[in-house]
Amino acid sequence: MSHPQAASEFLKDQAKAKWHDETLWFVRDKRDRISKTIPEWEDLRNLASQIKENVLSKLDSYLEEFERNAIQNGITVHWAKDAEEHNQIVLSILQKQKCTAIVKSKSILTEECHLNPYLEKNGIEVVDTDLGERIVQFLNQPPSHIVLPAIHLKKGEISDLFHEKLHTEKGNEDPTYLTQAARVHLREKFLKAKVAITGVNFAVAETGEFVVCTNEGNADMGVHLADVHIACMGIEKIIPRRKDLGVFLRLLARSATGQPVTNYNSHFRSPATGKEIHVILVDNGRTAQLGREKFRNSLKCIRCGACMNTCPIYRRSGGFSYGSTVPGPIGSILSPGLDMKKYSTLPFASTLCGSCSDVCPVKINIHEQLYEWRQEITKTHGELGKGLSMKLANGIFKSPLAYKISGNLMRTALKTLPKSLIYHPINSWGKGRNLPDTPEESFKEWYQKNRK
Ligand code: SF4
Repeated sequence: MSHPQAASEFLKDQAKAKWHDETLWFVRDKRDRISKTIPEWEDLRNLASQIKENVLSKLDSYLEEFERNAIQNGITVHWAKDAEEHNQIVLSILQKQKCTAIVKSKSILTEECHLNPYLEKNGIEVVDTDLGERIVQFLNQPPSHIVLPAIHLKKGEISDLFHEKLHTEKGNEDPTYLTQAARVHLREKFLKAKVAITGVNFAVAETGEFVVCTNEGNADMGVHLADVHIACMGIEKIIPRRKDLGVFLRLLARSATGQPVTNYNSHFRSPATGKEIHVILVDNGRTAQLGREKFRNSLKCIRCGACMNTCPIYRRSGGFSYGSTVPGPIGSILSPGLDMKKYSTLPFASTLCGSCSDVCPVKINIHEQLYEWRQEITKTHGELGKGLSMKLANGIFKSPLAYKISGNLMRTALKTLPKSLIYHPINSWGKGRNLPDTPEESFKEWYQKNRK
């Protein structure tokens, strides 16, 4: 389904679409208010952007430095060129441990690699332990937002779901009650799992440690109870020094949810006695993106979700309308790099208002890159109708006589032709819009009559 088709499905429930829009705007507003309490906010954004610029220019050497130091700390480091290799590495570790059930905290990378269905196909039970992720897992849905995975669901829907899955009281929508029920349910899973999987928010090259940020402490609970910790990390998550962390941690939570800091920022440096830590460094299209001059700085993204919360299209079309693991403005830059044809409508799902770039904590020029993708996509997969109409418009606008004649013709035609001929299938502009009423005369005619 293209983005416009999926968006029109979402918009069928107008009341929910309005609620979705307002809820995300509330988060955006919180981000604005808290960022204004930090006088050096813009300096932090500039600094974060510069640190990431430096990382991208020497990514290979920082990764090797991280690997050296992590190995010295007792961590096992694996490299995966793509999703398949990543999934195979995870499975081989689990098989070695004779493990049939794992707990997993939020990791967009594992969503990108479709790890859950892969492990389930191989007989492993996967339990997502982030509350929002567990909710969407119960529904067999992917997350609709990278920070707020179940933001498309209302309290009542979660209450019904928990009644069915966790046998909570029917109709009880109290968030504390529902959260407690999830807590009891997850506690059992934590106690049984021998292996815990987490993502990685930041990996520090100079020390070989990595940091996992969660609000619920679920990553820590899983990791500390399990014998083996597998951390799955996109290669762009590297930062050079531990002191750089302060810059990113101050920006991340404020940009994501408007909190001063994420509740748990846990550092993992070496395994406890008798335990194992594995880090999987995953490429999966990232070096290809690094090689695309116009789009490489999309790899600076720290996955805060702020560009989604502010985007008027994301707020009004919902995360599922993008059909990609990372939705919203940044997803519309990353996804065409993975499959330009499949995601060809995403860069057009933007007003190009620039609000995404304005809120981005690492100053990615998101709206400019969306515009760049539009040009690339139009060259490669341009719509035939659009190409022809642009050529025709070019001919008309070049000649005053052709302009005058076609204006007269169109004013008559638009008034007399049946609607089905005007809003035909190749008129993609007209699919979601109505033309204004046709004027009686051209502006030129009106001006000649009325000028004094
Ligand atoms: S592009 Fe910027 S605003 Fe969007 S998720 Fe990434 S870091 Fe956040």
